Amino acid sequence: MQLLCPHCQSELNRSGESKRHCETCHSDFILNIECNECGAILQRLKACGAVNFWCEDCNELKSKSSANYKLVANKSST
Ligand SMILES: [Zn+2]
Ligand SMILES: [Zn+2]
Repeated sequence: MQLLCPHCQSELNRSGESKRHCETCHSDFILNIECNECGAILQRLKACGAVNFWCEDCNELKSKSSANYKLVANKSST
C-alpha cells in the first residue's frame, strides 16, 4: 500500500517497519495502524509471509484493508 505525504502529496518511502520518509520535503513519519471499529493501535502479526493485524480491544483479527492508516509526524528535533 502506497501512502502519500500529507504535506506535499509525494509518495513516501519505507524507512522501517512502521516508519515512512518523504524525500521531497524531508519529513519523517510514524505509521500507526488503527482499528477501524474502536481506534486502538493494532498489533502486527506475521504468518506465512502475510501480514495481519490484531486488535486487543476487539479481541479480533483485522485485515490489512479494513485497518485505518494514520501518519504521525516524527520530529527529530529532540
Ligand atoms: Zn513531503
Ligand atoms: Zn478494535
